[in-house]
Amino acid sequence: MKTLKIAIQKSGRLNEKSVELLKNCGLNFENYKSSLISPVSNFPLEILFLRDDDIPEYVQDGIADLGIVGENVIEETEVEVSYLQRLGFGKCSLKIAVPNTYDIKDLSELDGKSIATTYPAILGKFLKERGIQADIRTISGSVEISPGLGLSDAICDLVSTGGTLKSNGLKPFADVMSSEAVLIGRVGSENEELVKELIQRIQSVLRAKETKYVVLNVQKDNLAAITALLPGVKSPSVIPLAEEGWVAVHTVIPERDFWDRISQLKQAGAQGIVVMPIEKIIL
Ligand code: ATP
Ligand code: MG
Repeated sequence: MKTLKIAIQKSGRLNEKSVELLKNCGLNFENYKSSLISPVSNFPLEILFLRDDDIPEYVQDGIADLGIVGENVIEETEVEVSYLQRLGFGKCSLKIAVPNTYDIKDLSELDGKSIATTYPAILGKFLKERGIQADIRTISGSVEISPGLGLSDAICDLVSTGGTLKSNGLKPFADVMSSEAVLIGRVGSENEELVKELIQRIQSVLRAKETKYVVLNVQKDNLAAITALLPGVKSPSVIPLAEEGWVAVHTVIPERDFWDRISQLKQAGAQGIVVMPIEKIIL
């Protein structure tokens, strides 16, 4: 039987969440920091630990069947891979930032200016589409210090909270692209059975993460009001309680409107609300 290979970041911002996702998919493997490859004992899969920059090419060339990497890295390397699933972590955006003292109002003012970045391809395309001619200075890291050193007028770098920009006296000015970690595959690999199986497992973990399992007690008279508030996977389960006139309602609630929903349920007569995390949802 064929063994799949999935490439994930060896160390850095995406490593921990990538390992956690694969472990939550029920895959058993050792996360040795020293090894480049780790076999999975209960699925025909090997995990390759790589620099994130190399992942898109490894997948394009078929050295790995799958990869987990930021969209920004895929765009920058300009490879041909298929996007199989957004993963909801590693969210950030690539922004142009300028020193706080630089009173800039329009993108066109960057014409003739210099911009330091580790993303020359994405930035080049962005500026070209807007007819701006700037001098792109490609550097390999610590982009945020370059205006302070007099190396460039502006920078283009990844931002999540904006803390690094702030502490270097910079302000974000324009959004170039937003990014998150995605599962990628070789073009055409999405039709392979093992790849499909792994994607299904990943989707069931992601779905579960977005929802909570809720059990509550309610008087039968208030049941209709409660079920009207619960969209659920299907209709909720209603189970009689030992106490006459009362039932327990079991259902699933999306995480995003969780607190609003809970207070509405309380107002409608729900009592003893118990909320539990869900491990997987298989449709
Ligand atoms: P490697 O050694 O694997 O090349 P790296 O230094 O290039 O690692 P990291 O800094 O670990 O990369 O970031 C990996 C990815 O995490 C980025 O490509 C991006 O998609 C995502 N990310 C999320 N938030 C941020 C952020 N604030 N700054 C940089 N990257 C971020
Ligand atoms: Mg990198």
